[in-house]
Amino acid sequence: MTDKKDPAEHTVAEHEHSATCGHPAVKHEDHVDYVHDGHKHAPHDGHYDEHGSHRRR
Ligand SMILES: [Zn+2]
Ligand SMILES: [Zn+2]
Ligand SMILES: [Zn+2]
Ligand SMILES: [Zn+2]
Repeated sequence: MTDKKDPAEHTVAEHEHSATCGHPAVKHEDHVDYVHDGHKHAPHDGHYDEHGSHRRR
């Protein structure tokens, strides 16, 4: 299996995004992303993935 998605730069233990954590939650297709310092983080299977703000260079 290939799961090459980029992990977010923090773990669930370091900061758990939730409805009350202070980061804006935005709906992204069938899940919710949290806007975190210019990135969007999406909870996924015990960790966070980066969603939405990647810039290819
Ligand atoms: Zn948060
Ligand atoms: Zn985050
Ligand atoms: Zn993931
Ligand atoms: Zn997302």
